[in-house]
Amino acid sequence: MSTLNGFNLDKMEVELLDGKAIYKLLTPEGPVLFNDLIGKDLKLIYHKEINCTNCGKKTAKSYSGGYCYPCSIKLAECDMCILRPETCHFERGTCREPDWGLQNCMIPHYVYLANSSGLKVGITRTSQIPIRWIDQGATQALPILKVGTRYQSGVFEKLLSSEINDKTDWRKMLKGVPEEIDLQAKRDELFELFGDDLDDLEGKFGSDHVSILENEDVIDIEYPVLTYPEKVSSMSFDKQEVVGGKLLGIKGQYLIFDVGVINIRSHTGYKVHLEH
Ligand SMILES: [Zn+2]
Repeated sequence: MSTLNGFNLDKMEVELLDGKAIYKLLTPEGPVLFNDLIGKDLKLIYHKEINCTNCGKKTAKSYSGGYCYPCSIKLAECDMCILRPETCHFERGTCREPDWGLQNCMIPHYVYLANSSGLKVGITRTSQIPIRWIDQGATQALPILKVGTRYQSGVFEKLLSSEINDKTDWRKMLKGVPEEIDLQAKRDELFELFGDDLDDLEGKFGSDHVSILENEDVIDIEYPVLTYPEKVSSMSFDKQEVVGGKLLGIKGQYLIFDVGVINIRSHTGYKVHLEH
């Protein structure tokens, strides 16, 4: 099958089914289940056109992961505080789009531990569980705090990141399945280590806004991968018009081909068609 119609790439849709990550790419012919394409040859062909994921206008370059320049400086979701949530400035009345902030940031968030390329701490909206973990290629995840806003989750994350990583090493993540970590034991260690600080923040934000989660279950995630690459070479439509080969697997938002890997999410708005 081949999709001849060009379409703008968006991140792969993911879900967790019986512990397994399921990936779909939305195309004009409908969603394509990528798990079924593993072991097969496929190609994405770039039309040398990027369309802003917000306004749809053509843009010579992609800003903030899929936007034109004007949108990237106007939208709240492209503001620096999204990457550094502890710098949220909603309360000061300077949010770029207060309505968007109300719907997306001033709502409950989780702080979690995950094992992606090793132990990490992260934050996510309730609705993005377990999507966020699959997007990061985590093989295990454990929510440890539930808080009232994105800002609050950012403050907790910042505190815990003095002790553990808050980034994923994507090359390492793509090289195999990491050694299993006892996330519940790590959580208990962190609660012990940061006990006073956690109490202080709970007092500051109000106990009705902060739940310390001491009894959550670990979520395990399996990825559809036949073989992990020994050497991770990264492919991009900024450098080549055709990306493809034999699809060996999918992890995070990466397609793993026999000839290299490509991050689909970072090509949001790139117009392509798919041949498989
Ligand atoms: Zn735009």
